[in-house]
Amino acid sequence: MTGFAYIRGVTTIELDPLLCNGCMMCIKVCPHPVFEALKRAVAIREPNLCIECGACALNCPEGALNVNPGVGCAAAILKGWVTRSKPDCSC
Ligand code: SF4
Ligand code: SF4
Repeated sequence: MTGFAYIRGVTTIELDPLLCNGCMMCIKVCPHPVFEALKRAVAIREPNLCIECGACALNCPEGALNVNPGVGCAAAILKGWVTRSKPDCSC
């Protein structure tokens, strides 16, 4: 989704850089360019692009990422926004 931006300053995405091992899994699974690859770690480059799907946190082997609600499914998050209901992935 080129040009997509979440409401500025409200996303809950957090990264603990001390836990990050640099595997880059979060970059692979994130549907938006939220993260930036560093030499041996990642950084959150653009948090306002995060839709709080939780795919990164659920796939991080070190537990370095935290996001709420983070159900692990972008479609569920978007459906929750449209229907104004709690996100739920039933795939
Ligand atoms: S998935 Fe976790 S450990 Fe891997 S690069 Fe991302 S934050 Fe670091
Ligand atoms: S919660 Fe989803 S959109 Fe946000 S950084 Fe993680 S994978 Fe990307």
